[in-house]
Amino acid sequence: MIGAAPQLLAWYRDHGRSHLPWRQTRDPYSIVVSEFMLQQTQVDRVLPIYEAFIAAFPSFAALAAVDAGDVVRAWRGLGYNSRAVRLHALARTVMETHGGVLPQSRDALLALPGIGPYTAAAVRAFAFECDDAALDTNIRRIVHRVMLGLEYPPLASAQELDAIATDAIPVDRGHDWNSAMMDLGSTVCMARAPKCLLCPLQQSCVASPVDATCLSTLAKAHAKRAPQASLPFERTTRFLRGRIIERLRDEPGLEVMTISALIHDLVTVVPPDRVAEIPHIVDVLVKEGIVRASEHGITLRSS
Ligand code: SF4
Repeated sequence: MIGAAPQLLAWYRDHGRSHLPWRQTRDPYSIVVSEFMLQQTQVDRVLPIYEAFIAAFPSFAALAAVDAGDVVRAWRGLGYNSRAVRLHALARTVMETHGGVLPQSRDALLALPGIGPYTAAAVRAFAFECDDAALDTNIRRIVHRVMLGLEYPPLASAQELDAIATDAIPVDRGHDWNSAMMDLGSTVCMARAPKCLLCPLQQSCVASPVDATCLSTLAKAHAKRAPQASLPFERTTRFLRGRIIERLRDEPGLEVMTISALIHDLVTVVPPDRVAEIPHIVDVLVKEGIVRASEHGITLRSS
């Protein structure tokens, strides 16, 4: 892959999504917001909410100054609302401990709330142009295919793939290398149907050309060995959490809602046998800091 880096970067220049707003800035705050939003959420869904969010809260200072409930409201449409609460907590910590300036070192980033190894690497690459590899599932899949062949069965650990990827980044090209790999993973080297004939890495890829039927057979055999959760969405905890937060988000300002009123409003959208779970899920949301409880009822957290 080291030898194919020029082809990869040339492909990115011609076919990559360099127009994305978080690719056109090096502002650490904007990069952090995009990274939080893009966790488990697709680019198309993030785009309009990201731009409105940055307009409403243009800096760590602006975000830290508002209530957590306001941040959760601005998060509407993205789901996984705990990310909004963690981002708000991060903004307050950056203001309190770093004077509103995001640190650049890996260790200092990892010491901040809500920032793990992946986000630290992504922030360093995209905001500070460091040669860190921000490896998610898609990029590890590409590295595995190029260096070792198809990923079923896996022939290297995540740590080994991370080390291979870090060695592959051309000096001072971490920003574009990571961007190129992300785009390649979502448009060319996809999990089920890689387009090897269009791939800039095909000449150096061990897995190329991938036979889609063979890949599908291997993936199915692997899935049988690896048990997976297959609950319908309405049976998941995430479904209930989303319905509760959606309802509270519709409550203006600091008005509170009783648990019984919340249950009354949700009986038409929650499966009947799951209504009894609502108070427990509310307790969890209170513990996570997303919902505030008082003697009068509950509301989205306001501080
Ligand atoms: S040649 Fe095929 S398998 Fe290899 S990286 Fe490109 S799309 Fe993926």
